[in-house]
Amino acid sequence: RYQRMMARRKPQNGQAASKGYREAKRQTAKLHRKVAAQRTDTGRKWAKQVVRDHDAIAVEDFRPKFLAKSTMAHKAADAAISATKRALVEMARKHGRAVHLVHPAHTTMDCAMCGARTKHALPLSERTYTCTACGAVSPRDKNSARVMLVRAGLNPTGVDLVSPATC
Ligand SMILES: [Zn+2]
Repeated sequence: RYQRMMARRKPQNGQAASKGYREAKRQTAKLHRKVAAQRTDTGRKWAKQVVRDHDAIAVEDFRPKFLAKSTMAHKAADAAISATKRALVEMARKHGRAVHLVHPAHTTMDCAMCGARTKHALPLSERTYTCTACGAVSPRDKNSARVMLVRAGLNPTGVDLVSPATC
């Protein structure tokens, strides 16, 4: 709404911005600050919960490219994943928890049970991972999470996973 107000009140080239335009701009900035603060807050609360409930944490060491064109990259940038991850690493350091940064390549293609790699990346719509080598079947995200634990040198059996669903 405030951005629409800004567009309507946009000054002509070479003209000073009107009072109404400046006010709309101020409101826009205020809202953006609010959203940023809410995301930081949610990220910290989630990180705190994870750090409190778990002794060892493994997370993908990905570097988000904000200019990347894939849908997943857009979603990652929008959901402030990197900010949440930063909060997790920070919180873990503060509370003396080990955070294992795992190489992110092929975490969705490897089998957590036998280590075999599928020949092709699964489409995002495919939510179940089925291993062609050992026949293991598990939910896609759970398989990836177990792969990360294995790569971090942790034992994935009996590990309960906390989902960032509240973010
Ligand atoms: Zn397998």
